[in-house]
Amino acid sequence: MRIGKNLQKFLLVTIALFFAVSLLIRVTKFHNVLGFNRADIREKVVAITYDDGPYPPYTNQLLDVLDRYQVKATFFEIGRNIEKHPEIVPMIIARGNELGNHSYSHKDMMFKPREFLLSEIAKTDKLLLELGVKQDSISFRPPWGRRFVVLPYLLSQMHKKLIMWDVDSQDYEKTHSAEDIANRVIDNVRSGSIVVMHDGGGDRSKTVAATDMIVKTLQSKGYAFKTVSELLKN
Ligand SMILES: [Zn+2]
Repeated sequence: MRIGKNLQKFLLVTIALFFAVSLLIRVTKFHNVLGFNRADIREKVVAITYDDGPYPPYTNQLLDVLDRYQVKATFFEIGRNIEKHPEIVPMIIARGNELGNHSYSHKDMMFKPREFLLSEIAKTDKLLLELGVKQDSISFRPPWGRRFVVLPYLLSQMHKKLIMWDVDSQDYEKTHSAEDIANRVIDNVRSGSIVVMHDGGGDRSKTVAATDMIVKTLQSKGYAFKTVSELLKN
């Protein structure tokens, strides 16, 4: 009988926990806690995002490819790299693309003091604003997408969107060819997808070549491209 009672207790606690967690997620809003992986829409629209720049000549080359197909993308850039290549930020803006904040020093933001997180966000926002970014609220993507309770909470307090992705191009894997990168994206996107690629952090010539293939193929399949803010407005 004792086992039966224990089992009953266990089940009751499990059910109570399940409802408590679902309620908590509903109250705090799902996206504020976990970030946006994609937009919940039916139209064939995707957002390509690039992390870790600005990093010449690859950021510049990506801008040329995007221009050639008349599509816009979103660049989540690192503060330290913006300081090294400030001239690239106005180029990204002038061509109608969006800029996002990818921290100042690209250090892991998990389990770090609140002050560190705030300064990583504020320093890069300041650089972007000084260089002409005019967005009401600059979105944020943490290094490697790593975040835990405090960071999402701070971002929601600052009315900043936490942007993740649902399609990882894996363009950082050295063994992947441009075709591998492109096919991974082409095969996995769906309506509302957010794709992550990289314009900085090393030789990105394969990312540049893959972008050309991705945009050309997806356009032929009827997809349109939007910046992250435009995508999430729907
Ligand atoms: Zn990164």
